[in-house]
Amino acid sequence: MDFAFTKEQMELHEGAKTFGRREVFDSVLERDAAASWNPTLWKKMGEAGLLGAPIPTAYGGTGLSAVETCLVKEGFAEGAQDAGLALAWGASTILCAVPIWKLGTEEQKQKYLPGMCSGEQVGGFCLSEPGSGSDAASMKTRAEKKGDKWILNGTKMWITNGPIGDHFVVTAVTTPGAKAMGISTFIVESGFPGFSVGQKIEKMGMKTSTTSELIFEDCEVPAENLLGQENFGFIGTAKLILGWERSCLLAPGLGGMKATLDRTVRYAQEREQFGRPIGAFQAVRHTIANMKMRYELSRQVIYRVAWALDLDGDPPLVDAAVAKVVTSEAGQANAKDAIQMHGGNGYTPEYHVERSLRDAMLGSIGAGTNEIQRSIIARSMLNLGF
Ligand SMILES: Cc1cc2nc3c(=O)[nH]c(=O)nc-3n(C[C@H](O)[C@H](O)[C@H](O)COP(=O)(O)OP(=O)(O)OC[C@H]3O[C@@H](n4cnc5c(N)ncnc54)[C@H](O)[C@@H]3O)c2cc1C
Repeated sequence: MDFAFTKEQMELHEGAKTFGRREVFDSVLERDAAASWNPTLWKKMGEAGLLGAPIPTAYGGTGLSAVETCLVKEGFAEGAQDAGLALAWGASTILCAVPIWKLGTEEQKQKYLPGMCSGEQVGGFCLSEPGSGSDAASMKTRAEKKGDKWILNGTKMWITNGPIGDHFVVTAVTTPGAKAMGISTFIVESGFPGFSVGQKIEKMGMKTSTTSELIFEDCEVPAENLLGQENFGFIGTAKLILGWERSCLLAPGLGGMKATLDRTVRYAQEREQFGRPIGAFQAVRHTIANMKMRYELSRQVIYRVAWALDLDGDPPLVDAAVAKVVTSEAGQANAKDAIQMHGGNGYTPEYHVERSLRDAMLGSIGAGTNEIQRSIIARSMLNLGF
């Protein structure tokens, strides 16, 4: 076992951190307050090779491994401290481009991947619906084959990049009653007849990303836009995405935690009360130690999943669930501690820690709630199957 990153890998990490700091950080407070999306930053991320990190160079990507993609995402998030932009990146690259790369036909890859890598286009992933979140396989969106088209009807909910996306990987029922074995995935362009953006969703955090409902009303999808095998959309895509979601999608959380920890350490060194820096008090020291331990533990579990992904493409379900729970709860606990250690200043946007708590709250909800992850872990321990 080798825990060391190579010099080249550390350069990728540092490069992404410098980019985030230089291009993104200065405007994050303003964009968070206005809940605004910035297409210029997106384009710059594409030009810097970030958006296509794990996608092969043949399709306009950067061709990085999963471990390297995590390093780049972690570095970007530490420099930029913009979790919303990192979420938009995750939805486009990890949840839309990766399934197209892994499951798509050559034509699909040639058509959709280069634009997402360059930043000319934005992708998204549509699984959740108003009536089905944790129980995603009970979705209502239906796809019926009519001639050389699939006709989609239904509503998807909570879709990251929904209002601005150019194409989406969309799940829909193709064999009613078969639950997970009767769901297929499609690549749906926002310009297809019958596609529309529903209500835009206001959020407590991740405000620099956009979220909305998407409506499919007799939406016409060409037959060749079926992604992967019919009826294996849920099993195939979910299985494929899982490892990527529990490593590369979560990696920005590590960078956010690092930035919050560094800020708290600096504050504890500089802020004086009772004639001493507050870092002289044991309660503050222990809090900083707890923050550091949670951060280090999270790094171990995330990179372990990424390493398994690079090794054989199929990280164990339980490891992935452990990574999701450990990292998301560490992010929330560290953000809360950082606010507390900053006193009244922590309660204001200027110190950047109140945003980190609002952003971190999505961690235990999105991409399979932590209750569901705990259930997966416990079912495995108790030999109850999944
Ligand atoms: C900002 C944001 C962005 C998102 N982006 C996307 C996206 O791009 N694409 C997409 O498809 N989805 C997206 N989602 C949706 C997200 O994945 C769902 O919100 C999540 O899966 C939970 O579903 P739900 O909200 O319907 O909650 P529910 O499933 O209704 O859960 C409510 C509560 O009940 C608990 N619960 C439910 N069932 C069980 C059970 N069996 N055992 C124990 N507890 C249970 C849950 O853990 C939770 O605490 C996004 C959500 C948000 C907030």
